[in-house]
Amino acid sequence: MGTRFIFITGGVVSSLGKGLASAALGTLLQARGYSVRVRKLDPYLNVDPGTMSPFEHGEVYVTDDGAETDLDLGHYERFTGVAATQSDNVTTGRIYSDVLGRERRGDYLGGTVQVIPHVTDAIKKFVTADLRDEDFVICEIGGTVGDIESLPFLEAIRQLGNELGNECAMFVHLTLVPYLSASGELKTKPTQHSVMELQRVGIRPDVILCRCDRPIPDGERNKIALFCNIRPEAVVPAIDIDTIYQVPIEYHDQGFDTQVLSHFRIDTAARPNLDTWRDIVCRIREPDGEVVIAVVGKYTDLPDAYKSLSEALVHGGIANNVRVKLDWIASELFEAEDTVEHLNGVHGILVPGGFGERGAEGKIKAVQFAREHRVPYLGICFGMQMAVIEAARNLAGLSDAGSTEFRRCDDPVVGLMTEWQRGEEVEQRVAGDNMGGTMRLGEYPARLTARTHIAEIYGRTEIEERHRHRYEVNINYQETLEKAGLIFSGTSPDGVLPETVELEDHPWFIGVQYHPELKSKPFDPHPLFKSFVAAALDQSRLV
Ligand code: GLN
Repeated sequence: MGTRFIFITGGVVSSLGKGLASAALGTLLQARGYSVRVRKLDPYLNVDPGTMSPFEHGEVYVTDDGAETDLDLGHYERFTGVAATQSDNVTTGRIYSDVLGRERRGDYLGGTVQVIPHVTDAIKKFVTADLRDEDFVICEIGGTVGDIESLPFLEAIRQLGNELGNECAMFVHLTLVPYLSASGELKTKPTQHSVMELQRVGIRPDVILCRCDRPIPDGERNKIALFCNIRPEAVVPAIDIDTIYQVPIEYHDQGFDTQVLSHFRIDTAARPNLDTWRDIVCRIREPDGEVVIAVVGKYTDLPDAYKSLSEALVHGGIANNVRVKLDWIASELFEAEDTVEHLNGVHGILVPGGFGERGAEGKIKAVQFAREHRVPYLGICFGMQMAVIEAARNLAGLSDAGSTEFRRCDDPVVGLMTEWQRGEEVEQRVAGDNMGGTMRLGEYPARLTARTHIAEIYGRTEIEERHRHRYEVNINYQETLEKAGLIFSGTSPDGVLPETVELEDHPWFIGVQYHPELKSKPFDPHPLFKSFVAAALDQSRLV
């Protein structure tokens, strides 16, 4: 069978969980034996989300091939296990930048460059390019129907729907059916209006997914079907649930996958195998205990900023059959107060990735607490760099050790490679610099030293993990720091870039320059998170 395209749009309000819906549909089709690919079109003008603050846009998800993408791609990977690539996420900004680049090169041979057909052609090309003969491509369109911004995307998928025909394309629209407590009713009008808006641009949804906080009675379902011109079975309730990993199961129970397959006239008699997901949900709902992990970071009010991280910790919990409770702590707190009070009693401390000086000293204090109180510590990227600074200052006695990301210091234990390799001056970023795309991004191999704690955790010495950082730990301090007790347990294959560190005399203290959370899956928890949560569980039995 040829590749079939499923386009997912959203209406009424944003944040209805289109990303999860797309990911869960991918899971359901896989569970029936089909191959899938999930893609996202983002309507904003940034060329990629790499330059956006996590406050604006949540986490930046990095792919193996080094693309900085929307956090929904993390959901796609966690649900389908298919590694996302550069060609799975595009923004209006990138489309325009490509079209304008071509215009400047004269590729349009003097023609007038227009949204239709030039921009829409570029979008269609993106949606259909770089496929590996997948059975299904699920393509999520960011934003809400009715936004000015998403019009070129909607026009492009309308055209694609027409070109591919019903046999190879379908449209799913996700809306909200709110409950009004004053009148005690579920309201279908927002859905009707949202579908009208979609029809105005020439798209008729084949399935309407209705997000609702309670079951939708037949009456309302029929009403939506009648007004939106579809069969009642194609109105699929998407009811709020306690864990996202229940979503594929729930969708199947409501008939979502059946509706999708019957649209394509594919036989639906065989049932999908969802045993793995049932097991995952069961472990989440009925854990044997609980551990508390303090996450000491910057964007702690906005859990979306650390989406993959919090999911990876859930996966660590699944692997150990425990609930992982996260205690989000803004590191700046420790700069004003005594750390002990907040960290006493937690079973693990994690300092995640981060940028800039604000809050860094607080993170260093959290590292010191973990080291001195023998609390399991996992430092990710910035969290490893802070662990190195802490060890340099407090174990090796280098009192002015720091990172050149913040300022000049006597002992730049973290800095840019160019500074120590070519003896260049400290490179400070200046206003007006190009901010996008200047980092070590994507998957890189690393070599772990045999018989170190981390090599034992991975069960191997060759690993590949994803990176997103500009600064590196300075290899010239290896000897000094190892003498003081901080072992450089893994490096880049050429031995130039430290990739992992660990404390010799500590139950569980590991820093990694890469982001292991990006590769963790609920059905395949990352070994570092599995081991870290196990260590936290041991710790919970001590305190
Ligand atoms: N700010 C640090 C760097 O650029 C760490 C980045 C991160 O934690 N992702 O190297």
